[in-house]
Amino acid sequence: MTEKKVSFADLQALRKQLNEYAYQYYVLDQPSISDSQYDQLYRQLELIEMEHPEWISPDSPTQRVGDQMLTGFQKVRHAQPLYSLGNAFNEQDMADFVNRILNQVQGPVSFICECKIDGLSVALTYEEGQFVRGATRGNGQEGEDVTSNLRTIKALPLRLRRPVSVEVRGECYMPKSSFLALNEQREADGLPVLANPRNAAAGGLRQLDPKASAQRNLNLFLYGAVVSESFHPHSQEELFRELEAVGLRTNPLRRECHNLAEIMAYIEEINEKRHDLPYEIDGVVVKVNDFALQEQLGFTVKAPRWAIAYKFLAQVEETQVLDVEWTVGRTGVVTPTAVMQPVQLAGTVVKRASLHNVDYVKSLDLRIGDWVTIHKAGDIIPEVTSVLTERRAEETKTLAIPQHCPECQAPLVQEEGQVAIRCENPLCPAQQLAQISHFASRAAMNIVGLGPQIIKGLLEQDLIHNVADLYDLTSQDLMKVDKIKEKSAQKLIQAIEASKKNPLDYLLFGLGIRHVGAKAARLLAQRFGSMEALAQASLDEMASVEGIGLTISQSLRMFFDRADSQELLQRLAQQGLTMTSESMGEKIESKDNQWYGKTVVLTGTMEHYTRSQAKQILENLGANVTGSVSAKTDVLIAGSEAGSKLSKAQALGIQIMDEAQFLSSLSDKTVDDEKESERSDE
Ligand code: AMP
Ligand code: ZN
Repeated sequence: MTEKKVSFADLQALRKQLNEYAYQYYVLDQPSISDSQYDQLYRQLELIEMEHPEWISPDSPTQRVGDQMLTGFQKVRHAQPLYSLGNAFNEQDMADFVNRILNQVQGPVSFICECKIDGLSVALTYEEGQFVRGATRGNGQEGEDVTSNLRTIKALPLRLRRPVSVEVRGECYMPKSSFLALNEQREADGLPVLANPRNAAAGGLRQLDPKASAQRNLNLFLYGAVVSESFHPHSQEELFRELEAVGLRTNPLRRECHNLAEIMAYIEEINEKRHDLPYEIDGVVVKVNDFALQEQLGFTVKAPRWAIAYKFLAQVEETQVLDVEWTVGRTGVVTPTAVMQPVQLAGTVVKRASLHNVDYVKSLDLRIGDWVTIHKAGDIIPEVTSVLTERRAEETKTLAIPQHCPECQAPLVQEEGQVAIRCENPLCPAQQLAQISHFASRAAMNIVGLGPQIIKGLLEQDLIHNVADLYDLTSQDLMKVDKIKEKSAQKLIQAIEASKKNPLDYLLFGLGIRHVGAKAARLLAQRFGSMEALAQASLDEMASVEGIGLTISQSLRMFFDRADSQELLQRLAQQGLTMTSESMGEKIESKDNQWYGKTVVLTGTMEHYTRSQAKQILENLGANVTGSVSAKTDVLIAGSEAGSKLSKAQALGIQIMDEAQFLSSLSDKTVDDEKESERSDE
């Protein structure tokens, strides 16, 4: 295909397309293309904007994360206060609320029940469809201008689908998975963990560096608006429809109810579901649906009379600590875990709970034998929250803080200003085990069958010390490990061999460089194209990649500057691992798509993809893309100005698709699985 000159119209079309994909992904939660496909389009836009800086506009998808460090946050007075809500803790409280309303009005009343998202409320101002300002609730009257940080939330449209002027309200929150990943990272970095997703979200909005805010991966649901001339729904239900119509994200788990029984049934249902939701909720909000009726009911000094929050009980259990174990992680951080009398908590039996770090244990003043309260952080990770000192028995044992690595006996170090203690021995077998296990794990190199038990065996036999050693193993070596028979040894060797073909980003993630998660690895592989190029890149070049902050860049630089890393990479390259991303080899996740196994020919010019991009997409789906039409061709995809290939295909009666048909063939479910696994590790 000939490179034609990009016009402003091309740029606008590309932006529109990206905005649409982002809308499908972030607002509707219904992605229609894979992350890599999105990233490729995004990269195209960046390249065009680099050539034509005069075309950059503030609502371009590339302009979400600003470079400017903030010096503080301006105060904003809310046009109308952001109210708080009255509480209900049981059915009786809810009955009182419903009856009070029924007593004041004639005829039936409808209520809208919603999840009470555990985040912080924000107000977003749009002027003629443009996002101009976002503020926190503050004290309700006056909040803080956090526009630059809110702009980094991908579900927040920078431009609405209609040019309305309105202030909308909603809840900004941090998804459970992001919260857990953040704490895991903080733990590995020796920083104190954050108490809950709400605090993490609030902290995220108050970062002075929008890049740091972007990395918190915040999201939001809208549920309110200050009625205006161009935006004036008549009920809560209609409000939701209007919010959706202009492209704003709403929570789908809402329901219209007509009486106490229906409301209580909804509450019950949500309470059962809450642990499976990807975000934390702390209750249910019940609102009178009709706005005229809301107005009639009015406000008390503090809260509306037409709404109430039903609060769920916090899920906390009490149990006894039997022991504290210290484990060495991938980065050498030694973390304590409480082993407890098993107890049922939020749907599972819990035997172990995190104690995070030495400082945490010290501040709890925990002793073995103590009774403690536990809860699940992010609804998932059991965590000791307090010690019930009043129940402390005589025979409790004070806790010995280890001075030496429990695995290699190297002295442990606590760095200045850090809460973590660390084993700094690079040859520590526990760290090697954790690193190699990570490398082989499903999320990284996916070496099937190579689990921690076998890796441990290999380390103990002195057969491996690092990931490159894996590729020198023979089946004889493997059979030296307990319980490995010839057949499984051969299978393992095959799996190890096969992993050499993994795309560059899998390897990059598998290396376990601090801060480099699966997504960062993908972005880096895409941008730099080879391990070599990445290793040569300057700090600035790395940090200029969208989604890659200074922390990641510094960590990469440190890794590549180390002699042992250089040696490791050299060995891996010699062993034949994929070190470039030429064949942007996205793994074929599913054969269940219409392109799998098809022989396809491309011709003519496409609007959306270059020919090599289209080829890549098809190959990722398992198609075989060839250069010329023959009787073996299954489909010809013809862009505009298609020539002889088209007539030949017509003559042979081969199926012909235009670009639109090709694009819509990509929007079926073929790539969704990948998206799921992608999400869970971010
Ligand atoms: P509280 O902070 O307990 O007084 O509860 C009031 C807060 O609940 C509001 O300020 C909102 O931030 C939050 N909230 C969460 N979800 C909703 C919702 N669906 N409707 C209204 N408020 C909500
Ligand atoms: Zn050690």
